Amino acid sequence: MISKNLAKAINEQINAEMWSAYLYLSMSQDMYKKGFKGIANWFKIQFQEEQAHAEIFINYLHSQDEKVVLAPIAAVDTEWASPLAAYEQTLQHEKKVTSLINNLCHIADDDKDYAAQNFLAWFIDEQVEEEENARDLIYQCKMLESNNYGMYMLDKELAARVYNTPAPLLNTAE
Ligand code: MG
Repeated sequence: MISKNLAKAINEQINAEMWSAYLYLSMSQDMYKKGFKGIANWFKIQFQEEQAHAEIFINYLHSQDEKVVLAPIAAVDTEWASPLAAYEQTLQHEKKVTSLINNLCHIADDDKDYAAQNFLAWFIDEQVEEEENARDLIYQCKMLESNNYGMYMLDKELAARVYNTPAPLLNTAE
């Protein structure tokens, strides 16, 4: 059973996720117009992911027999100076979303609502990933904007390195 307080906060989170979706869809349009079709594609997928997040929260309220109330989605920016600027806003925004998810966890904790805590754990992990992805893209954009293309390529190459157990350590009994 969910508290009215948590159900209300999850309804607000549904709106926040839809706002995120709208923000990334807008970034996708601007990047497309600027000729960055790949980056536009990345933001379009981000848009789809945010809609999925809203749907996961909607399904949870359904499972708790709570009514979903959809509020208006506030306006978003429509233009960014560069892909770097868009990714910098993405990181700032995802940090804000992390604090919203943390707040839901605080409520679930106060309520001793173990089902909600369990449900929210996935979003905690997801936010770590969202922030890391945005941060990685900021570093890459900065490398490219400073014409450090060689370092960018070297970094990609080194990312592919995998550990191989040295032959003398293979098949050794404990
Ligand atoms: Mg989200």
